[in-house]
Amino acid sequence: MALRTLETLGELGGKTVLIRCDLNVPLSDGVITDDGRIRASLPTIQRLLTGGAAVVVMSHLGRPDGFPDPRYSLAPIAQRLGELLAATVHFASDTVGPVAQSMRAALAPGEVLVLENLRFDPRETSEIDSERVEFAALLTQGVAAFVSDGFGVVHRKQASVCEAAEAVPSFAGLLVASETDVLRRLTTDTQRPYTVVLGGSKVSDKLGVIEHLLPRVNRLLIGGGMVFTFLSAMGYNIGASLCEPDRRKTVMTYLERAKELGVDIVLPTDVVVASAFAADAQTAVTRIDAMEDTAFGASGLGLDIGPETSATFAGLIESSHTVFWNGPMGVFEMPAFAAGTRAIAKALTNVNGLSVVGGGDSAAAVRVLGFRDSDFGHISTGGGASLEFLEGKSLPGLEVLGW
Ligand code: ADP
Ligand code: MG
Repeated sequence: MALRTLETLGELGGKTVLIRCDLNVPLSDGVITDDGRIRASLPTIQRLLTGGAAVVVMSHLGRPDGFPDPRYSLAPIAQRLGELLAATVHFASDTVGPVAQSMRAALAPGEVLVLENLRFDPRETSEIDSERVEFAALLTQGVAAFVSDGFGVVHRKQASVCEAAEAVPSFAGLLVASETDVLRRLTTDTQRPYTVVLGGSKVSDKLGVIEHLLPRVNRLLIGGGMVFTFLSAMGYNIGASLCEPDRRKTVMTYLERAKELGVDIVLPTDVVVASAFAADAQTAVTRIDAMEDTAFGASGLGLDIGPETSATFAGLIESSHTVFWNGPMGVFEMPAFAAGTRAIAKALTNVNGLSVVGGGDSAAAVRVLGFRDSDFGHISTGGGASLEFLEGKSLPGLEVLGW
């Protein structure tokens, strides 16, 4: 099935269009520290404005408890949007109250109105269907069409994502359409060899992805904190490294399954072991069968893949035509444990084909390590949404758009 896209939206002149964006940017004392999500929302807003629409923008920010909390006001985001867009941007100090209602009614074509944080109203995320329907009806009052462009929230059954799309004619924005297209290319008619690289802290977060992707890939490379559950299950001593003992059985079944399918699961041959979880810890590079033989003994923690593993992984990545990477290879936030993640990011930039980075921390990692977005085929803006997509789950926010 195909998403209803902006191409089918028709004549916009003089109409009011409501758009759901994901403007949930990091703030420090009210100052935006990374405006990437605001920038990602610009093309669709611009397209609607150019078509002659008056555009009402809505988003959540952080996790307020269903009532107004000035720490989570969208006011600074509206201001930044005004700086980035060549258009007049107004800000309503409520969401569906009298201020928003009258400002929306007065909005001129070519102008933007940003509503206050959706999550200041408990109906946005309510478990009760009728409450979400009621909130969506208020949000869509007087609007001719709804555009869904917050890819980071399409896996959520929330009023501004699902019920709003059911209330008025609804369409996928450019961001949602392009994210969906890239993720579809990772699950159907994939160019081979297809390599998936997984890391990050918790293996339990990634079980669904492993399960769904295993029959679809040629190689699965595993690093990060999650690999130690694999190594422990295989009988290696992993010292004080991260481990989820109750997942050992499950990961063993993946290793067996991979063998049956002819898929290579590639695990590290060496790791960087640290004396403590600290930026200034003492470190040693060791083979995985000798992790407890370092000076730190059983208290040593594996915090990055080693140089030999980095080289092996890089070679496998660079010889692939499709690569999806989720999860840092080590604790990249500390420079002493960032080399593995950097090597893998570098290898992805050399892929002759499609290279995709997914996941919130992974996307942050490549930026912190000095790579540019354009170095990769695609960096997904929605961590949870992209993982659920790749797990084969149906995403409610895409289903309502015809997916
Ligand atoms: P993403 O958000 O990209 O899906 P995750 O949330 O799964 O990634 O994992 C990111 C975190 O994993 C990072 O904060 C990183 O420090 C941590 N991490 C990576 N390797 C290790 C390790 N060996 N031990 C502990 N934490 C790790
Ligand atoms: Mg994360």
